[in-house]
This record gives sequence, C-alpha cells and structure tokens, in this order.
Amino acid sequence: MEIVRDVREMRAMISKFREDGAKVALVPTMGALHAGHLSLVEAGLRNADKCVASVFVNPKQFGPNEDFSRYPRQEAADMELLRAAGCDALFAPAPETVYPSGFATTVSVAQTGDTLEGAHRPGHFDGVSTIVAKLLIMTLPDIAVFGEKDWQQLAVIRRMATDLDLPVRIVGAPTIRDRDGLALSSRNTYLSDAERTAAAALPASLLEAKRRIEKGEPVPPVLAQATNILLQAGFSSVDYVALADADSLQPLPAADRPARLLAAARIGTTRLIDNFPVEQVA
Ligand code: AMP
Repeated sequence: MEIVRDVREMRAMISKFREDGAKVALVPTMGALHAGHLSLVEAGLRNADKCVASVFVNPKQFGPNEDFSRYPRQEAADMELLRAAGCDALFAPAPETVYPSGFATTVSVAQTGDTLEGAHRPGHFDGVSTIVAKLLIMTLPDIAVFGEKDWQQLAVIRRMATDLDLPVRIVGAPTIRDRDGLALSSRNTYLSDAERTAAAALPASLLEAKRRIEKGEPVPPVLAQATNILLQAGFSSVDYVALADADSLQPLPAADRPARLLAAARIGTTRLIDNFPVEQVA
C-alpha cells in the first residue's frame, strides 16, 4: 500500500483506477485508527473496488482551547492497519499542502451545522466542511464513507455535497462500539481507567432515554433524566442531550418524524459524543 502526500499524485492514482474501470471510495479520517475507522474501509470496499483512506489532523476544526496539539498521531501504526484492512492507498498531505499561505476560503453549512455540536463548538463544522470539500475535490472519488458516530457531521456533509453538486455519493456506516457499548473513538485513549469505566453511562443513558421516548413518554423529562444519569455516573458536564430531526438536526419536542437522540458530555478533560436513532412515535 502506497502513502501519497502530493495532491497531483493522489488525483492521478485515483483517475488511473477509474480509467481502469474501478469505482473508488475515499475514507477521510484524522488518524489514530481503530476498528470504527477500519469498518469504514470495509464499507468502502463493499461499495467500490478500490479504497483510499486519508489521514489529516485538520487544525481548522479544532477550537482554540481544544485538543489539536495533543490529538494522537501514529502514522506508522495507521499504515499497517490500513494495509491489513485491504486499503489501496493512504493520502496523508502536509498541513502546508492543504492550507498554503494565503488560504482564505471557508465552506459553511447553515442550519444543519448551527445546532448542537455547531452551537457548542463554534467554527467546528466550517472546519469540517472546508476540509471534506477539499479532500473530495483533491481526490475525486466515486463515493466517500463517513461514520454515523458523528451523526451531525454526516448530515452536514450530505447537505454540502447536495448543495455544491459534488459528484460523489456519501455513504454512512454504523457506529462500532466496545463491549460495554461505548463508541470507539480516538479520544477514548485520553480516558483514565476509572473514566473509561464511567464513560459507558453515555450510551447506556441514551439507550434508556430512547426506550422511554419510543414508549411515548414526554421528551423533556426523559432528556433531563439522561443528563442527571451522566452527572451521577461521573461526567463533569453535559453540553447537551437532545432529540433532533435526523436530517436537519433541529430540536424536536416529540419523536413525530425520523429522529435522532444525541449527546455530548465531558468526563475529566475528555469530551465524548454519541447518538442513537429513535423510532417514530405515532
Ligand atoms: P475521525 O478520525 O474521528 O475524524 O473519524 C473519521 C471517520 O471515522 C468519521 O467519518 C467518523 O464518523 C468515523 N468514526 C469514528 N469513530 C467511529 C466508530 N466508532 N464507528 C464508526 N465510524 C467511526
């Protein structure tokens, strides 16, 4: 498996794959790969003939007080994991290749990107939309695969690809979880043993809230109780536990249409997010 750092070289490799009749999948990541990322490679290879993964820790999607500098970086290990997963190439451009001096463009998705994560991490989705637009244009794949783990991000990217007529199919892939239900995340490596144990309350509280909402219980007290469960379990603060329209991510007072239950909470210095679908209640 080749590692490519140059944009023209990457584009040439992918257009050669396509000239040879292969469909190409792109899997954008920030590295520190785990089984969740590798499941996206598998989904890419189910939906296409060749798979290219990108690893780029994107400074533009981190806020000034976030974890950009301590974000885990392990390119050699990532290479081995991608090779073993059957990936065809790794695209790992340098920051100055992606954002050369004078770079001044931002892609911004309103509405879908304004609520929840967008409200709590100002500028985050602008950074995500800008890098994903760039990666898609730099590589020109047939499909691009993103995890449902970052549900709002997937919705923002779908909106952007539609709005900009990007000639790529966006594919969502299910969240891969540890045995206790915690979604795999590169940020889980920040957790102490005690925090890691307590973190299982995040999926557990959401699943309990999902069950109660689907039974027809009123939504606001169910969300409040999920927040309390997180605080009692050892989370230090809860940014939100929310029921939202699955596509627009606007808050919903009741699950009267396709909905998603989403949460973001801090344990120690680590911020975790998770989400589950909620069945429509008649
Ligand atoms: P990241 O490297 O965290 O930016 O994530 C890169 C891609 O992997 C995104 O599309 C994420 O949604 C996806 N991803 C991260 N964790 C998981 C997981 N546990 N299961 C499935 N996909 C994931």
